[in-house]
Amino acid sequence: MKIAMIGTGYVGLVSGVCFSDFGHDIICVDKDPRKIEMLERGEVPIFEPGLDQLMAKNVEAGRLTFTMDLASAVEGADAVFIAVGTPTRRGDGHADLTYVMAAAEEIAKVAKDYVVIVTKSTVPVGTNRKVRDVVAAANPDLDFDVASNPEFLREGAAIDDFMKPDRVVVGVQSDRAAQVMADIYRPLYLRDFPIVTTDLESAEMIKYAANAFLATKITFINEIAALCEKVGADVKQVSRGMGMDGRIGNKFLHAGPGYGGSCFPKDTKALARIGQEHAIPMQITEAVIKVNEEVKRRMIDKLRDLCGGSFNGKTIAVLGVTFKPNTDDMRDAPSLTIVPALVGGGAKVRVCDPQGRHEGEALLPGVTWIEDAYTASEGADLLVILTEWNEFRALDLKRISTGMATPHMADLRNVYSAEDAGAAGFSCYDSIGRAALG
Ligand code: NAD
Repeated sequence: MKIAMIGTGYVGLVSGVCFSDFGHDIICVDKDPRKIEMLERGEVPIFEPGLDQLMAKNVEAGRLTFTMDLASAVEGADAVFIAVGTPTRRGDGHADLTYVMAAAEEIAKVAKDYVVIVTKSTVPVGTNRKVRDVVAAANPDLDFDVASNPEFLREGAAIDDFMKPDRVVVGVQSDRAAQVMADIYRPLYLRDFPIVTTDLESAEMIKYAANAFLATKITFINEIAALCEKVGADVKQVSRGMGMDGRIGNKFLHAGPGYGGSCFPKDTKALARIGQEHAIPMQITEAVIKVNEEVKRRMIDKLRDLCGGSFNGKTIAVLGVTFKPNTDDMRDAPSLTIVPALVGGGAKVRVCDPQGRHEGEALLPGVTWIEDAYTASEGADLLVILTEWNEFRALDLKRISTGMATPHMADLRNVYSAEDAGAAGFSCYDSIGRAALG
């Protein structure tokens, strides 16, 4: 099949590369000349494990090309996917649909034959109908269908998630569009084909409901963790004991410094907004958004306590600033709330992150970037583990504590334990929802 992918960000590029690996002919389009130039040189503009090799393989096989020329990509395509950004609109929390609608109109103006216009971006309920209206208004003679195909991949594990999804959700209005979508995804499955075919609105709602639910689960365990600290329970044991219950499941029960990233913050806000617009307030989601902000604030209090009540004049080494490991994405990362509070409080902040510097330099002014954890912690008063990159999971804690001015650690991902830290010479150690040291 011939497919055009509009937008070569985290979702569009991964989807395009993976579709080409199934054997489809893919043309990826972006309006950012820097990205297209890089892609044409064989460089991947984002950090996503394994993407460079898979992309090179499919470019080599002649199934994957890149262009800024949307018209040439759409010509003869069986389906055109819209995978552009839908950030939070300034002021009201609504998803900003400017890029989606602009892409839909551009597609409509150049399409000639029957095509399925597929929204892969996360969009509020009702958007696909608006896309259909925009396309029909821009090109009244065009024979087309719209389809909603929300994406569930996780950055850092995107290829695996795309290749082996738990399910594919497709919202359609016609059998013809359903058939095109099934043909696109069938190569993924040798046996069972867990495609959930729905109407447009249900598909749009599934994505928001799923993300809001996951954000709720994370926030729930974060709130339980805060209580664990007060009552002397250990949240790691609590979440293990909870997660073994098949009705609950063990995923998304790791306590941490609050959820962040390119999806949960904006999608929870958008769902809350959709609820308000329909006079059905999403009270649980609204509470989750509020509690998550409190979780991040609580982290700052924790760090201040470990600095003896004030950040002023302290040297703090922060390990990890991306919103999770194995990505360079900094969008809405907890570090963007926590690090400025340290800098603003008068601390000298050294930051170490395997992939975060490129994005992070502009977002975290006033910090010093250091290549490795040992150099970053040399002479520091506090070590903070903020993102659990593999390289921070087996640190030589003794070497670190010996080099620090004051051997204090805030382990905001529960990588180590008070026993490990104490044995390695740390005089103070605090984590999330567990016993502290010192
Ligand atoms: P992104 O910002 O990384 O990429 C969007 C790309 O679209 C950019 O490269 C931009 O230049 C391009 N673009 C915008 N308008 C264009 C146009 N008219 N023509 C061509 N290119 C255009 O965004 P992302 O993280 O890939 O997210 C895309 C969508 O997928 C969002 O709705 C997001 O919520 C959803 N989503 C993201 C993830 C994730 O993990 N990032 C997961 C699931 C769903």
